[in-house]
Amino acid sequence: MNVLVINSGSSSLKYQLYDMSNESVLASGRVERIGMESSILTHEVEGQAEVREVSEILEHTMAVRKVLDMLTHRKFGVLRTIEDIQAVGHRIVHGGESFRESVLVDADVKLEIRKLFDLAPLHNPAHMMGIAAVEANLPDVPQAVVFDTAFHQTMPPTSYLYAIPTVLYRKHKIRRYGFHGTSHDYVSKQAAAFLGRPLEELKIVSCHIGNGASCTAILHGKSYDTSMGMTPLEGLMMGTRSGDLDPAIVPYTINKEDLTLNEVNSMLNKHSGLVAISGVSSDMREVVQAMEEGNESARLAFEMYAYRIRKYIGAYAAAMNGIDAILFTAGVGENSDVLRKRVCEGLTFLGVELDESRNAVRSNETRRITKDGSKVDVLVVPTNEELLIARDTYRLVQNKALSDKVGQT
Ligand code: AMP
Repeated sequence: MNVLVINSGSSSLKYQLYDMSNESVLASGRVERIGMESSILTHEVEGQAEVREVSEILEHTMAVRKVLDMLTHRKFGVLRTIEDIQAVGHRIVHGGESFRESVLVDADVKLEIRKLFDLAPLHNPAHMMGIAAVEANLPDVPQAVVFDTAFHQTMPPTSYLYAIPTVLYRKHKIRRYGFHGTSHDYVSKQAAAFLGRPLEELKIVSCHIGNGASCTAILHGKSYDTSMGMTPLEGLMMGTRSGDLDPAIVPYTINKEDLTLNEVNSMLNKHSGLVAISGVSSDMREVVQAMEEGNESARLAFEMYAYRIRKYIGAYAAAMNGIDAILFTAGVGENSDVLRKRVCEGLTFLGVELDESRNAVRSNETRRITKDGSKVDVLVVPTNEELLIARDTYRLVQNKALSDKVGQT
């Protein structure tokens, strides 16, 4: 079965086509600048030169049509006809409390996702445009939705409630949802397989450290607590996001600087974190380089960033009464040995014994970076959210086909 995975944003649409017989990626790419002048489609097939096509792509239905044209292109395509796509899986940022797991798309599911627009105004409407665009182009192909929040729906109220009047939770569903769930789910399963131990026995802290960053306490395979909150602003210090802060800073800043709420929101989401403290960049590579060249603000930003990850790991060790494994994943987590070293240096009290030469190895494989015999295993686990979306979609479509068959007999 070929599964097309789509991540639809307001002006972009990323895709990956999987052959699920061996989970290989047949092609991948993205459409950028949808609805703007000179939209760009970039298409990649392993072993071939990247294809770039500039045209006017006015909206998402047209974007999906262009992707399908490319996938079936005589020269650059990988499929004979669009009928070779048997299912489509979408990444959806916010599933609220309605979705505890991935589901096949039907009218009710679309209605529920629409109801969540308020909670994710930048993301969910754009995802819905992707679903409608696929419907318009491939009306008979089943679609599944995989939510960033679903994995965290197992959190107990002690983790997900904020200590504010409960009427706000009842009326407006103000609570912690957590994000990067697909990634935390995927890497924890990979880690258990790597360690050769049942996930149900493990206490894991998974650190997804990319442009956005979050830590999750995974107790016996289930999310127990996570650092991102009602929105992806809470928790760790990130590339451009502040992470945790005293909420009183918001009204105080509004008064002192004569800012609007929107301006403060934008400041906390786009102009804070690494870029604000370092004054250099939101990209960890550039911050580390500046630090190594003697830039003191870059050093401070790096130290704060590492310190906050360490604090969360410590907090989650306490939350779960111990940990067996710490996982690093995503752009920074997978690639920055300097950052991993700095985080782990302060965790010897937990029994983390980092092996510096293992930590320095670069690889695309899951690997252990602690010494043999370290009480806590620290692993680098490359994340693959698209693969998990493809797997969930494949499973749901197969199960549906099976139950339809049983229904008929
Ligand atoms: P992601 O959001 O997972 O795609 O991660 C993107 C971020 O990973 C970039 O903004 C970089 O800061 C970071 N990154 C990628 N490669 C490296 C590297 N070699 N060292 C440090 N950070 C890196």
